[in-house]
Amino acid sequence: MTFSIQNIIQHLNAKTSGSFSDFIVENVSIDSRSLQNSNGTLFFALKGSNHDGHDYIESLITKGVRSFVVEYIPNNLEEKANFIIVENTKKALQETAKYYRNLFQFPIIGITGSNGKTIVKEWLNFLLSPDFSVVRSPKSYNSQVGVPLSIFGINEHHNLGLFEAGISQNGEMDILEEIIQPSIGVFTYLGSAHDEGFSSPSEKLLEKVKLFKNCKVVVLEQNDEIENHIACKKITWSFTNKIATVFVEKLLENQLKVNYNSDSFVVTIPFSDEISIKNCVTCIATLLHLGISLEKIQERVANLYPVEIRLQAKKGINNCVLIDDSYSSDYQSLKIALDFLEQQKLHQKKTIILSDIFQSGLPTERLYEKVTSVLQRNNIDRIIVIGETISKYLSELNNVIGFQSTSDFLKQFNTQSFQNETILIKGARSFNFDEIVVLLEEKNHETVLEINLDAISHNLNFYKSKLKPTTNIMVMVKAFGYGNGGFEIAKLLEHHKVDYLGVAFADEGIELRKAGITLPIMVLNPENSSFSAMIAYDLEPEIYSLSGLQEFIKVAQQKNVNSYPIHLKLDTGMHRLGFENHQIQDVISILKETNLVTIKSIFSHLATSDDTSFREFTLEQFSRFEKATSTICKSLKISPIQHILNTSGIFNYSEMQLDMVRLGIGLYGIGNSEEENKKLQQVGTLKSIISQIRTLKKGESVGYSRKFMISKETKVATIPIGYADGIRRSWGNEKGYVFINNQKATILGNVCMDMLMVDVTNIECYEGDEVIIFGEHPSVIEIANVVNTIPYEILTGISQRVKRIFFKN
Ligand SMILES: *Cc1c(COP(=O)(O)O)cnc(C)c1O
Repeated sequence: MTFSIQNIIQHLNAKTSGSFSDFIVENVSIDSRSLQNSNGTLFFALKGSNHDGHDYIESLITKGVRSFVVEYIPNNLEEKANFIIVENTKKALQETAKYYRNLFQFPIIGITGSNGKTIVKEWLNFLLSPDFSVVRSPKSYNSQVGVPLSIFGINEHHNLGLFEAGISQNGEMDILEEIIQPSIGVFTYLGSAHDEGFSSPSEKLLEKVKLFKNCKVVVLEQNDEIENHIACKKITWSFTNKIATVFVEKLLENQLKVNYNSDSFVVTIPFSDEISIKNCVTCIATLLHLGISLEKIQERVANLYPVEIRLQAKKGINNCVLIDDSYSSDYQSLKIALDFLEQQKLHQKKTIILSDIFQSGLPTERLYEKVTSVLQRNNIDRIIVIGETISKYLSELNNVIGFQSTSDFLKQFNTQSFQNETILIKGARSFNFDEIVVLLEEKNHETVLEINLDAISHNLNFYKSKLKPTTNIMVMVKAFGYGNGGFEIAKLLEHHKVDYLGVAFADEGIELRKAGITLPIMVLNPENSSFSAMIAYDLEPEIYSLSGLQEFIKVAQQKNVNSYPIHLKLDTGMHRLGFENHQIQDVISILKETNLVTIKSIFSHLATSDDTSFREFTLEQFSRFEKATSTICKSLKISPIQHILNTSGIFNYSEMQLDMVRLGIGLYGIGNSEEENKKLQQVGTLKSIISQIRTLKKGESVGYSRKFMISKETKVATIPIGYADGIRRSWGNEKGYVFINNQKATILGNVCMDMLMVDVTNIECYEGDEVIIFGEHPSVIEIANVVNTIPYEILTGISQRVKRIFFKN
């Protein structure tokens, strides 16, 4: 993509500052963190509810970005870069995309519906790319910002576009329609997703069909209500109504007879669930309309595959992290994957394994020039390329190793050469990179704790919304991020620019530092023996006793540091750690005498912030805190950060937010009241599989001590997770349950060390099926209630042998 900026400035009718005379836009960006930002980037400073792109302009300038679209020029930056000043940067991004779209004339298929957009788009791409040079939206880029960014992927060599449009409220589709300008529409289906943004389902339908305003034809499932709102020609399909353009009969579970005009033919679909079959028929109807031959349809449909939309970071062998994107390779998605790599990298060392790239729409030479420069800009340490074309074009680079094929790589490459690095694996389907993933993935039992990084971001933003914009946030990542994963979450928080991290012990902080986390870190329980290591790793101690204070000052002197930041903890009623009132004068006299340490913050901890019936006590704690703090500050003439609130404190007592808050459990999706929980998104899902199923007759029993006696014929499934993984024994013996195929399966008998057994008599299920141990249902909160504890204990009790997988949508 390149275009001249002058036309955009005119098109936007905008004011400018600086000179754009010779600027050619090579890249449009809204993400300040992307390493792909460069002097060819036009950066749009978007304002969200939690982020303001204008805040990042200064640091982008130091990285070489010169051209910005802004709503105002931040202080003192006027001379340092070129600015296009508009009223609304998001609108300007959309207008720019509209302008860019109009430079191209080829047909575009616009896809909308409540679900299935991305799958239908990916499948159509697979089914049509032998015949067309297709450009498509990457991943699920279908929003008010995602669609414009997708459009910039078009270039002059494409001749068919596939773009999705998703909306969450009224008025949005007109904008997307004007950007995408589809001539062919595809409607997947109408469901309840995003209902909350509309006053009624029919209002939502009316909004969605606006995408088809200027279409010549729309493909959809036969449905009078929807069809009535679509003016143009319709290609309909149906399993029941013969008047549909495409009438489909089910022969077998996954075999369909398709009747179209006077033709009829049989297709085998590699799926048997209803949703996949519907999505598949939508694709077939689209292909028929485009005149693709029956034979080609039969052959290509039989090769459809499950679509993995989200990027995942998994644990690899030898302490590596794998980012598995082994099913796609196109230039747009390479750029997205590189950004994800940068955000997720656990180790400084970055490796990419990359196949030939298809469907760029660019001449081969130009494509690999661009690939080379994007890889260089991302500072990839080791580049392994697989495929005849890519190894030819990238061989010039000195950190490139080339292989002709995946099997060559597998034969020649020693897995031991992967150590302590983050590896992005990205290949076109035909390269079967899943074989490489299998090789490099850490082998583990089938139980995993899936962590939804998007939900963490959502929860962080929810608590931010309760605070003044100036209030700092310390996030507690102690106990391995409450069991959710220490480093990965710290990394995400660093990107969200939280102000501090809190850990319990020095070791936890050292681990984070070794992994490259640079945020300030406070250590809650520093032991005297760890003081010098803490100084070496730039960790800041909580100081809660006179002896600790004196010892730390001694170590600071030995280590030759000055003004080392420490955090004073006051005991105001929790009676755990902290200075008591009568010690305050001693603290003051010691600190008056030294400049080896400096008080970075003063804080205390509330004992009952979750229970507002103790409001009086909480107010008392707060007033004791304010009094003691003010004495210290006055005597030492300092104004350190003050903080007292944890998660429930933020929710119940936001008026006590002071300068900073300490967010813990809420980040991980668990609040202390029902009302609070409604606002949070669930973060962790603990999953396993069924190892074996058997049917037992009356008189038999299940498990240790014959705790469950069979009274009528019962189908029992065994699941490889037990108390050594953190499942309480008190959750067994019919108290607890798991979810299998969306149904409750009660736990029978005692939970064993590594296994438990459940009743699946009324559940259709097979060995190998997925089992939800906790997640949406049952929730951690529900389990905690039944086993008489608190969610904190359940979360932090999930054993380290359970593999954590992090994902983002
Ligand atoms: C753990 C901890 C927090 C966070 O508590 P949550 O209830 O999880 O929000 C805050 N402050 C201190 C001192 C803690 O130990």
